Amino acid sequence: MKKYKVGVLGATGMVGQRFVSLLSDHPWFTVTVLAASPRSAGMTYKEAVSGRWAMPTAIPEDIANLVVLDATADMKSIASSVDFAFSAVDMKKDEIRKFEEAYAELECPVISNNSAHRLTPDVPMVIPEVNPEHLEIITDFRKSRNLSRGLIAVKSNCSLQSYVPPLHPLRRFGLEKVLTCTYQAISGAGKTFETWPEMVDNVIPYIGGEEEKSEIEPLKIWGEIKDGAIINSSGPAITAQCIRVPVTDGHLACVFASFREKPEIEEIKQLWLDFRGRPQELSLPSAPKQFIHYFNEENFPQTRLHRDLEGGMAISVGRLRPDSQYDIKFVCLSHNTLRGAAGGGVLLAELLCKEGYI
Ligand code: NAP
Repeated sequence: MKKYKVGVLGATGMVGQRFVSLLSDHPWFTVTVLAASPRSAGMTYKEAVSGRWAMPTAIPEDIANLVVLDATADMKSIASSVDFAFSAVDMKKDEIRKFEEAYAELECPVISNNSAHRLTPDVPMVIPEVNPEHLEIITDFRKSRNLSRGLIAVKSNCSLQSYVPPLHPLRRFGLEKVLTCTYQAISGAGKTFETWPEMVDNVIPYIGGEEEKSEIEPLKIWGEIKDGAIINSSGPAITAQCIRVPVTDGHLACVFASFREKPEIEEIKQLWLDFRGRPQELSLPSAPKQFIHYFNEENFPQTRLHRDLEGGMAISVGRLRPDSQYDIKFVCLSHNTLRGAAGGGVLLAELLCKEGYI
């Protein structure tokens, strides 16, 4: 099988490094271009990430000596030399918006990890198991810009990737109200304990912009395509508090939910066990076999024990029980830089390739 040539934009950062390590032995994709800011451009990759390589495995050998390009200045040559690119750059929001649009206009499909385009009405924001049908909006995106290959597809914020999947199959009961508190890892800020020593033995009750994203983004994911735009779902009402906690990786969430018709506890567990999405149907290489793992142990899921389940792509859930104020409550966990960032991006790219959009 011919492998797709892939660029990683923002390859030197925390998420970019994840992309590089995840793609090192990918069956369909080969990284041929690494790009970052002018600060790193011109260096070999191993020089550019020297002292800040934060992955548990070594820098892939075939990548270490690639020369890092300037993601903006070298845009034309990058766009014409790859089949698609992952975007994990960190710039101002309006700069990222223009940057990703420019790649799409050059007919280079962009799969983005950034928030800049998440609420753009003709850009799909996809959790592949939850709303794969939103990819159909790409036809409108291309038509309105007169493009044949260019597209932008984004993944959602990492915080909600723990609680949207288990809530999704419960929408059939008329999901009305959700309250969630998230306990988020420091890698979500692109940091380690070495680079963020204030986080050792500490909890910080504020993550800029995160609560708004956690409340709004699920409504787009559960929205519908109408007249060339994705229209947000009118419910459920969601309220969120997002807290930074001293763990390296893994965002955990405590969730409370109420419904029009309250489901039985055992019925919910069965729905989670049976939940198979498009990635499982298509046997995509990065798809977890079992998307939602439910644990009956009362002290599970635990961040350190369960974040890496199925390559960090599965969602772990436990402590489902009735609540006195809401109908139910439970605890859930997902790996923020795997399922919540680079892994979710790779799975989305696999879906786009398999469904013929790339
Ligand atoms: P990071 O570690 O700070 O890395 C930022 C990357 O962007 C680096 O490769 C950097 O290149 C590059 N960059 C910065 N300015 C640039 C410019 N002007 N032109 C081209 N490249 C530029 O950040 P991160 O944690 O990987 O996050 C990347 C993006 O993903 C952010 O927008 C973040 O909000 C989002 N995100 C992160 C997570 C997570 O778990 N960390 C999850 C979801 C979304 P240099 O090395 O050359 O400076």
